[in-house]
Amino acid sequence: MIELEGLTKRYGAKLAVDRLTFTVRPGIVTGFLGPNGAGKSTTMRMMIGLDRPTAGDVRIDGRHYADLRDPLTYIGALLEAKAVHGGRSAYNHLLCLAQSNGIPRSRVHEVLETVGLTSVAKKRAKGFSMGMGQRLGIAAALLGDPRILMFDEPVNGLDPEGIHWIRNLMKRLAAEGRTVFVSSHLMSEMALTADHLVVIGQGRLLADTSMPEFIAQNSRSYVRLRAPEQERLRDLLDGAGITKVTAAKDGSLEAEGTDAARLGELAAEHGLVLHELSPQQASLEDAFMQLTAESVEYHAHSGGAAGAVDGHVLAEPPVAGVTAAGATTAGQPAAPAAEWGAGWREQQSGGRKSRKGS
Ligand code: ADP
Ligand code: MG
Repeated sequence: MIELEGLTKRYGAKLAVDRLTFTVRPGIVTGFLGPNGAGKSTTMRMMIGLDRPTAGDVRIDGRHYADLRDPLTYIGALLEAKAVHGGRSAYNHLLCLAQSNGIPRSRVHEVLETVGLTSVAKKRAKGFSMGMGQRLGIAAALLGDPRILMFDEPVNGLDPEGIHWIRNLMKRLAAEGRTVFVSSHLMSEMALTADHLVVIGQGRLLADTSMPEFIAQNSRSYVRLRAPEQERLRDLLDGAGITKVTAAKDGSLEAEGTDAARLGELAAEHGLVLHELSPQQASLEDAFMQLTAESVEYHAHSGGAAGAVDGHVLAEPPVAGVTAAGATTAGQPAAPAAEWGAGWREQQSGGRKSRKGS
């Protein structure tokens, strides 16, 4: 079990993680979902002591990471950036980790087998493909046979076969009763893997719910209508008591709580021409986009800051500084991630070295 209590991380003026409180439970896969820059990696780094919280607390089975003896036997982590020493073979990399964590050598062979790297175990990791590197990272996470596993964007850059393999592995680990916490910026990925969902945006908790619940609440069905005389169509819907009508950006109307047949008949009765009449099911991806719309740091389009989002109002208004920054950057090119990226990687690899592993 992982318990976060008001976990907060500030980098200068930037609040990367903002008072996160939630619990990651054993026996299921918990998806940690949020757009790029939401604070997922920062949160995960704080869980394993690679970053110090500005405020709040995170506990691994009731204890702070720093207080765990042989931490690899409690929690295994695959972080976003590669931690492999390029010149070493996969076998030696894992052996070093094992020896510095009191893990028997035999376990190295086991995990190499589990991730399917046995045949290339003596090859230098430098020559590994992205997928092989990822498998090696996972082998390291599994090394201490920990009850808690954490994967930061594990499917990034993998081929379909690798993605499939990782999904099954996570499910299997959860079925063994382990705590599995996996991050992604893709709703589609989470929908296929996670039993429970924690959604964050700009460091803040937006949802903490079971996957089926999230699907039930967010797969809105509606009918899309398009008419040359949109105003008349609107009046017609109003008159018929169909009040849950939203105007979409593309000029169509979205009517809820009724079906296409009734709407078609209504239009016919009044001699109104329709150019579109189509039943729709909002995708989970749409639901995720809506939920996080206000919290996306930099919009790809220049449409300005996102407006209020129906039904998904944040618990509190965003921090003033963050809103202001978001507003002033809207319409301008996004600030390059590289500004801090280099320093971050340095810090991360430095932190890792001093910790003798993940
Ligand atoms: P995610 O993993 O969800 O994409 P991150 O945790 O990497 O998000 O980043 C959250 C926010 O914190 C981003 O705005 C990022 O720019 C910022 N950030 C992350 N690490 C650092 C750092 N070492 N220094 C300054 N800002 C950082
Ligand atoms: Mg990340």
